[in-house]
Amino acid sequence: MFHDYICDLPTYKVGKPLELLMRDYGIPASDVVKLGSNENPLGSSPLVYDEIVKSVKLSSVYPDDSYYELKDLLSSLYGVKAENIIIGSGSDQILEFCVHATCNKDSSVLMAKTTFAMYEIYAKHCNARVLKTQDFSHNLDSMLDYYKKYSPSIIFLCTPNNPLGEAMLKKDVLSFLSKIDSNTLVILDCAYMEYAAYASSDYHIAPLDIVSYPNVIYLGTFSKVYGLGGMRVGYGIANSNIIEMLGRLRAPFNITNISLKAAIASMKDKEFIQKSLENNFSEMPKYRDFANKYSINMLSSYANFVTFMFDESLISKDISESLLRKGVIVRDLSSYNLNGIRITIGTPAQNERVFQELSLILS
Ligand SMILES: *Cc1c(COP(=O)(O)O)cnc(C)c1O
Repeated sequence: MFHDYICDLPTYKVGKPLELLMRDYGIPASDVVKLGSNENPLGSSPLVYDEIVKSVKLSSVYPDDSYYELKDLLSSLYGVKAENIIIGSGSDQILEFCVHATCNKDSSVLMAKTTFAMYEIYAKHCNARVLKTQDFSHNLDSMLDYYKKYSPSIIFLCTPNNPLGEAMLKKDVLSFLSKIDSNTLVILDCAYMEYAAYASSDYHIAPLDIVSYPNVIYLGTFSKVYGLGGMRVGYGIANSNIIEMLGRLRAPFNITNISLKAAIASMKDKEFIQKSLENNFSEMPKYRDFANKYSINMLSSYANFVTFMFDESLISKDISESLLRKGVIVRDLSSYNLNGIRITIGTPAQNERVFQELSLILS
Protein backbone atom coordinates (compact mmCIF):
# COMPACT_ATOMS: atom_id res chain seq x y z
CA MET A 1 0.00 0.00 0.00
CA PHE A 2 2.76 2.48 0.86
CA HIS A 3 5.42 3.60 -1.62
CA ASP A 4 8.76 1.80 -1.18
CA TYR A 5 10.49 5.16 -0.87
CA ILE A 6 8.21 6.05 2.04
CA CYS A 7 8.93 2.74 3.78
CA ASP A 8 12.65 3.56 3.49
CA LEU A 9 12.26 7.18 4.58
CA PRO A 10 14.70 8.29 7.30
CA THR A 11 13.07 10.24 10.12
CA TYR A 12 14.36 13.33 11.86
CA LYS A 13 15.77 12.63 15.30
CA VAL A 14 14.54 15.19 17.79
CA GLY A 15 16.25 15.69 21.14
CA LYS A 16 15.20 13.61 24.11
CA PRO A 17 12.04 15.07 25.62
CA LEU A 18 12.35 16.48 29.12
CA GLU A 19 9.70 14.10 30.39
CA LEU A 20 11.74 11.06 29.37
CA LEU A 21 14.89 12.46 30.89
CA MET A 22 13.13 13.02 34.16
CA ARG A 23 11.64 9.54 34.12
CA ASP A 24 14.66 7.55 32.88
CA TYR A 25 17.37 9.26 34.90
CA GLY A 26 15.36 10.72 37.77
CA ILE A 27 16.50 14.25 37.04
CA PRO A 28 14.11 17.01 38.18
CA ALA A 29 13.02 19.40 35.41
CA SER A 30 14.62 22.33 37.21
CA ASP A 31 18.06 20.69 36.86
CA VAL A 32 17.77 20.05 33.14
CA VAL A 33 19.81 22.23 30.81
CA LYS A 34 18.27 21.91 27.36
CA LEU A 35 20.78 22.94 24.73
CA GLY A 36 20.06 20.44 21.99
CA SER A 37 17.60 22.22 19.70
CA ASN A 38 18.89 25.78 19.28
CA GLU A 39 15.99 27.34 21.12
CA ASN A 40 16.39 30.77 22.64
CA PRO A 41 17.73 30.22 26.19
CA LEU A 42 16.09 33.47 27.31
CA GLY A 43 12.66 32.14 26.34
CA SER A 44 10.63 34.70 24.49
CA SER A 45 9.64 38.32 25.04
CA PRO A 46 7.30 39.06 27.99
CA LEU A 47 5.05 40.75 25.41
CA VAL A 48 4.55 37.31 23.89
CA TYR A 49 3.42 35.76 27.14
CA ASP A 50 0.97 38.60 27.78
CA GLU A 51 -0.44 38.29 24.29
CA ILE A 52 -0.87 34.53 24.59
CA VAL A 53 -2.79 34.96 27.84
CA LYS A 54 -4.96 37.63 26.24
CA SER A 55 -5.60 35.36 23.25
CA VAL A 56 -6.85 32.25 25.05
CA LYS A 57 -10.43 32.73 23.92
CA LEU A 58 -9.34 32.82 20.31
CA SER A 59 -8.77 29.10 20.58
CA SER A 60 -12.37 28.49 19.48
CA VAL A 61 -12.18 30.44 16.22
CA TYR A 62 -10.10 30.11 13.07
CA PRO A 63 -7.39 32.70 12.54
CA ASP A 64 -7.54 35.46 9.94
CA ASP A 65 -6.20 33.41 7.07
CA SER A 66 -4.65 36.41 5.31
CA TYR A 67 -2.23 36.80 8.26
CA TYR A 68 -2.45 40.44 7.36
CA GLU A 69 -0.95 41.96 10.51
CA LEU A 70 2.00 39.59 10.64
CA LYS A 71 2.77 40.09 6.96
CA ASP A 72 2.50 43.83 7.46
CA LEU A 73 5.14 43.74 10.21
CA LEU A 74 7.41 41.52 8.11
CA SER A 75 6.89 43.87 5.14
CA SER A 76 8.07 46.84 7.17
CA LEU A 77 10.98 44.96 8.69
CA TYR A 78 12.29 43.76 5.35
CA GLY A 79 11.04 46.41 2.90
CA VAL A 80 9.07 43.93 0.79
CA LYS A 81 5.35 43.70 -0.06
CA ALA A 82 2.77 41.41 1.54
CA GLU A 83 2.47 39.61 -1.81
CA ASN A 84 6.10 38.55 -1.38
CA ILE A 85 5.42 36.69 1.86
CA ILE A 86 4.05 33.25 2.73
CA ILE A 87 3.51 32.10 6.33
CA GLY A 88 4.14 28.51 7.36
CA SER A 89 3.84 26.25 10.36
CA GLY A 90 7.55 26.74 10.97
CA SER A 91 9.81 27.47 8.03
CA ASP A 92 9.88 23.69 7.78
CA GLN A 93 6.45 23.80 6.20
CA ILE A 94 7.67 26.24 3.54
CA LEU A 95 10.58 23.88 2.80
CA GLU A 96 8.02 21.15 2.34
CA PHE A 97 5.92 23.29 -0.03
CA CYS A 98 9.00 24.14 -2.09
CA VAL A 99 10.00 20.51 -2.52
CA HIS A 100 6.51 19.18 -3.15
CA ALA A 101 5.84 21.90 -5.71
CA THR A 102 8.95 21.16 -7.78
CA CYS A 103 10.15 17.57 -7.32
CA ASN A 104 9.21 14.11 -8.48
CA LYS A 105 11.10 10.84 -9.07
CA ASP A 106 12.90 12.32 -12.06
CA SER A 107 14.16 15.34 -10.13
CA SER A 108 17.31 15.88 -8.16
CA VAL A 109 18.06 18.30 -5.34
CA LEU A 110 21.46 19.61 -4.37
CA MET A 111 22.80 20.43 -0.91
CA ALA A 112 25.97 20.55 1.14
CA LYS A 113 27.27 17.27 2.58
CA THR A 114 26.47 18.28 6.14
CA THR A 115 23.43 20.48 6.48
CA PHE A 116 19.88 20.57 7.86
CA ALA A 117 18.58 17.00 7.78
CA MET A 118 15.06 17.91 6.69
CA TYR A 119 16.09 18.86 3.14
CA GLU A 120 16.92 15.28 2.32
CA ILE A 121 13.81 13.96 4.05
CA TYR A 122 11.46 16.24 2.09
CA ALA A 123 13.21 15.34 -1.17
CA LYS A 124 12.65 11.68 -0.37
CA HIS A 125 8.93 12.31 0.13
CA CYS A 126 8.91 12.84 -3.64
CA ASN A 127 11.40 10.08 -4.44
CA ALA A 128 13.77 12.74 -5.81
CA ARG A 129 17.49 12.09 -6.09
CA VAL A 130 19.62 13.73 -3.40
CA LEU A 131 22.97 15.16 -4.48
CA LYS A 132 25.53 16.37 -1.96
CA THR A 133 28.78 18.19 -2.51
CA GLN A 134 31.82 16.44 -1.06
CA ASP A 135 33.38 19.32 0.86
CA PHE A 136 33.23 19.46 4.64
CA SER A 137 31.16 22.66 4.62
CA HIS A 138 29.34 24.75 1.98
CA ASN A 139 31.49 25.25 -1.10
CA LEU A 140 29.77 27.34 -3.75
CA ASP A 141 32.30 26.40 -6.45
CA SER A 142 31.53 22.71 -6.09
CA MET A 143 27.83 23.53 -5.89
CA LEU A 144 28.16 25.21 -9.25
CA ASP A 145 29.92 22.18 -10.77
CA TYR A 146 27.15 19.89 -9.56
CA TYR A 147 24.52 22.32 -10.79
CA LYS A 148 26.01 22.37 -14.29
CA LYS A 149 26.25 18.61 -14.41
CA TYR A 150 22.84 17.66 -12.97
CA SER A 151 20.48 20.66 -13.34
CA PRO A 152 18.78 20.01 -9.99
CA SER A 153 15.25 21.25 -9.32
CA ILE A 154 16.34 22.76 -6.02
CA ILE A 155 19.60 23.97 -4.49
CA PHE A 156 19.53 24.33 -0.71
CA LEU A 157 21.86 26.87 0.86
CA CYS A 158 21.78 27.08 4.62
CA THR A 159 23.49 30.17 5.95
CA PRO A 160 24.44 30.12 8.77
CA ASN A 161 24.54 26.37 8.38
CA ASN A 162 23.04 23.95 10.87
CA PRO A 163 24.83 21.95 12.33
CA LEU A 164 28.29 23.31 11.44
CA GLY A 165 27.75 27.02 12.08
CA GLU A 166 29.54 28.41 9.02
CA ALA A 167 28.05 31.30 7.04
CA MET A 168 28.54 32.33 3.44
CA LEU A 169 29.59 35.80 2.40
CA LYS A 170 26.74 37.80 0.92
CA LYS A 171 28.82 38.74 -2.10
CA ASP A 172 29.62 35.08 -2.81
CA VAL A 173 25.98 34.05 -2.53
CA LEU A 174 24.82 36.85 -4.85
CA SER A 175 27.48 35.97 -7.38
CA PHE A 176 26.40 32.31 -7.17
CA LEU A 177 22.73 33.24 -7.70
CA SER A 178 23.59 35.16 -10.85
CA LYS A 179 24.90 31.91 -12.39
CA ILE A 180 21.80 29.82 -11.74
CA ASP A 181 19.05 29.88 -14.33
CA SER A 182 15.40 30.21 -13.49
CA ASN A 183 14.56 26.49 -13.79
CA THR A 184 16.32 25.79 -10.52
CA LEU A 185 14.81 27.04 -7.28
CA VAL A 186 17.44 28.24 -4.82
CA ILE A 187 16.31 28.07 -1.20
CA LEU A 188 18.22 30.30 1.18
CA ASP A 189 17.49 28.86 4.58
CA CYS A 190 18.22 31.75 6.90
CA ALA A 191 16.91 30.38 10.19
CA TYR A 192 19.94 31.87 11.99
CA MET A 193 20.46 34.97 9.85
CA GLU A 194 19.81 37.40 12.73
CA TYR A 195 22.89 36.00 14.45
CA ALA A 196 25.12 36.25 11.37
CA ALA A 197 23.91 39.79 10.71
CA TYR A 198 24.84 40.74 14.26
CA ALA A 199 28.27 39.13 13.93
CA SER A 200 29.22 40.77 10.62
CA SER A 201 27.42 42.68 7.88
CA ASP A 202 29.49 40.81 5.27
CA TYR A 203 27.38 37.72 5.97
CA HIS A 204 24.07 39.51 6.21
CA ILE A 205 21.74 38.46 3.40
CA ALA A 206 18.36 40.19 3.49
CA PRO A 207 15.13 39.24 1.68
CA LEU A 208 15.35 42.46 -0.33
CA ASP A 209 18.61 41.21 -1.86
CA ILE A 210 16.84 38.30 -3.53
CA VAL A 211 13.18 39.24 -3.93
CA SER A 212 13.56 40.30 -7.57
CA TYR A 213 14.97 36.93 -8.64
CA PRO A 214 12.45 34.65 -10.38
CA ASN A 215 13.90 31.54 -8.70
CA VAL A 216 15.14 32.37 -5.18
CA ILE A 217 13.33 32.17 -1.86
CA TYR A 218 14.48 33.40 1.56
CA LEU A 219 13.25 31.42 4.57
CA GLY A 220 13.07 32.87 8.05
CA THR A 221 11.67 31.56 11.31
CA PHE A 222 10.31 32.65 14.66
CA SER A 223 11.75 29.51 16.27
CA LYS A 224 15.28 30.73 16.93
CA VAL A 225 16.11 34.27 18.05
CA TYR A 226 12.42 35.19 18.50
CA GLY A 227 12.12 32.31 20.95
CA LEU A 228 8.92 30.80 19.57
CA GLY A 229 9.96 27.23 18.71
CA GLY A 230 6.84 25.92 20.42
CA MET A 231 4.55 28.19 18.41
CA ARG A 232 5.54 26.90 14.94
CA VAL A 233 5.71 30.02 12.79
CA GLY A 234 8.03 30.61 9.84
CA TYR A 235 7.94 32.53 6.59
CA GLY A 236 9.17 32.54 3.03
CA ILE A 237 9.95 35.69 1.07
CA ALA A 238 10.27 35.67 -2.72
CA ASN A 239 8.85 37.21 -5.85
CA SER A 240 5.07 37.13 -5.97
CA ASN A 241 4.93 34.35 -8.57
CA ILE A 242 6.81 31.91 -6.34
CA ILE A 243 4.66 32.93 -3.38
CA GLU A 244 1.47 32.43 -5.37
CA MET A 245 2.54 28.96 -6.52
CA LEU A 246 3.57 27.84 -3.04
CA GLY A 247 0.33 29.29 -1.71
CA ARG A 248 -1.53 26.65 -3.71
CA LEU A 249 -0.07 23.97 -1.45
CA ARG A 250 -0.97 25.77 1.75
CA ALA A 251 -4.07 24.53 3.55
CA PRO A 252 -6.14 27.35 5.07
CA PHE A 253 -5.43 28.26 8.71
CA ASN A 254 -2.02 26.58 8.67
CA ILE A 255 -0.88 28.33 11.86
CA THR A 256 -2.97 28.77 14.98
CA ASN A 257 -4.53 31.98 16.21
CA ILE A 258 -2.36 31.90 19.32
CA SER A 259 0.81 31.32 17.27
CA LEU A 260 -0.14 34.21 15.04
CA LYS A 261 -0.63 36.55 18.00
CA ALA A 262 2.61 35.37 19.58
CA ALA A 263 4.61 35.99 16.40
CA ILE A 264 3.12 39.47 16.05
CA ALA A 265 3.95 40.32 19.65
CA SER A 266 7.50 38.98 19.33
CA MET A 267 8.20 41.39 16.49
CA LYS A 268 7.34 44.36 18.69
CA ASP A 269 10.08 43.72 21.26
CA LYS A 270 13.33 44.70 19.56
CA GLU A 271 15.05 44.97 22.92
CA PHE A 272 14.50 41.29 23.64
CA ILE A 273 16.04 40.33 20.29
CA GLN A 274 19.00 42.60 20.97
CA LYS A 275 19.49 41.10 24.41
CA SER A 276 19.35 37.58 22.99
CA LEU A 277 21.98 38.38 20.37
CA GLU A 278 24.21 40.04 22.95
CA ASN A 279 23.99 37.05 25.27
CA ASN A 280 24.87 34.73 22.40
CA PHE A 281 27.98 36.52 21.33
CA SER A 282 29.21 37.41 24.80
CA GLU A 283 28.93 33.75 25.84
CA MET A 284 30.41 32.22 22.67
CA PRO A 285 34.04 33.09 23.57
CA LYS A 286 33.67 31.06 26.77
CA TYR A 287 33.12 28.01 24.58
CA ARG A 288 36.20 28.94 22.58
CA ASP A 289 38.25 29.14 25.79
CA PHE A 290 36.90 25.83 26.99
CA ALA A 291 37.66 24.15 23.67
CA ASN A 292 41.21 25.52 23.69
CA LYS A 293 41.78 24.36 27.24
CA TYR A 294 40.75 20.80 26.37
CA SER A 295 42.27 20.82 22.85
CA ILE A 296 38.87 20.34 21.23
CA ASN A 297 38.35 21.51 17.66
CA MET A 298 35.55 24.10 17.87
CA LEU A 299 34.22 25.23 14.48
CA SER A 300 33.67 28.95 14.03
CA SER A 301 30.02 29.80 14.35
CA TYR A 302 27.75 32.57 13.10
CA ALA A 303 24.73 31.04 14.80
CA ASN A 304 23.35 30.38 18.30
CA PHE A 305 25.27 27.16 18.76
CA VAL A 306 28.83 25.89 18.70
CA THR A 307 30.08 22.63 17.24
CA PHE A 308 32.80 20.62 18.97
CA MET A 309 34.59 18.05 16.82
CA PHE A 310 36.47 15.26 18.62
CA ASP A 311 39.47 13.21 17.61
CA GLU A 312 39.40 9.38 17.74
CA SER A 313 40.15 9.30 21.46
CA LEU A 314 36.63 10.54 22.19
CA ILE A 315 33.26 9.30 20.95
CA SER A 316 30.55 11.92 20.55
CA LYS A 317 27.72 9.49 21.23
CA ASP A 318 29.22 8.50 24.58
CA ILE A 319 29.91 12.10 25.54
CA SER A 320 26.39 13.27 24.75
CA GLU A 321 24.97 10.26 26.58
CA SER A 322 27.09 11.04 29.67
CA LEU A 323 25.97 14.66 29.55
CA LEU A 324 22.37 13.53 29.26
CA ARG A 325 22.70 11.47 32.44
CA LYS A 326 23.76 14.69 34.16
CA GLY A 327 20.73 16.49 32.76
CA VAL A 328 22.60 18.40 30.05
CA ILE A 329 21.02 17.93 26.62
CA VAL A 330 23.23 18.57 23.57
CA ARG A 331 22.99 17.31 19.99
CA ASP A 332 25.16 14.35 19.09
CA LEU A 333 26.21 14.60 15.44
CA SER A 334 26.83 10.91 14.78
CA SER A 335 23.66 10.75 12.68
CA TYR A 336 25.47 13.20 10.37
CA ASN A 337 28.48 10.82 10.35
CA LEU A 338 30.45 13.31 12.39
CA ASN A 339 32.26 12.65 15.64
CA GLY A 340 31.08 15.84 17.26
CA ILE A 341 28.39 17.53 19.28
CA ARG A 342 26.40 20.69 18.71
CA ILE A 343 25.66 22.78 21.78
CA THR A 344 23.17 25.64 21.80
CA ILE A 345 24.68 28.66 23.56
CA GLY A 346 22.70 29.04 26.77
CA THR A 347 22.46 31.57 29.56
CA PRO A 348 25.68 32.17 31.53
CA ALA A 349 24.49 29.74 34.21
CA GLN A 350 23.57 27.04 31.70
CA ASN A 351 26.92 27.35 29.95
CA GLU A 352 28.70 27.02 33.29
CA ARG A 353 26.84 23.75 33.84
CA VAL A 354 28.01 22.52 30.43
CA PHE A 355 31.63 23.37 31.20
CA GLN A 356 31.44 21.79 34.62
CA GLU A 357 29.88 18.51 33.47
CA LEU A 358 31.93 18.27 30.29
CA SER A 359 35.20 18.85 32.10
CA LEU A 360 34.33 16.03 34.53
CA ILE A 361 33.66 13.73 31.57
CA LEU A 362 36.82 14.73 29.73
CA SER A 363 39.22 14.40 32.63
C1 LIG B 1 15.41 25.48 13.15
C2 LIG B 1 15.64 25.44 11.70
C3 LIG B 1 14.64 25.65 10.76
C4 LIG B 1 13.23 25.95 11.02
O1 LIG B 1 12.57 25.52 11.99
P1 LIG B 1 11.02 25.83 12.17
O2 LIG B 1 10.88 25.68 13.64
O3 LIG B 1 10.31 24.82 11.37
O4 LIG B 1 10.77 27.22 11.68
C5 LIG B 1 14.95 25.65 9.43
N1 LIG B 1 16.18 25.44 9.02
C6 LIG B 1 17.18 25.26 9.87
C7 LIG B 1 18.53 25.08 9.34
C8 LIG B 1 16.95 25.23 11.23
O5 LIG B 1 17.96 25.00 12.06
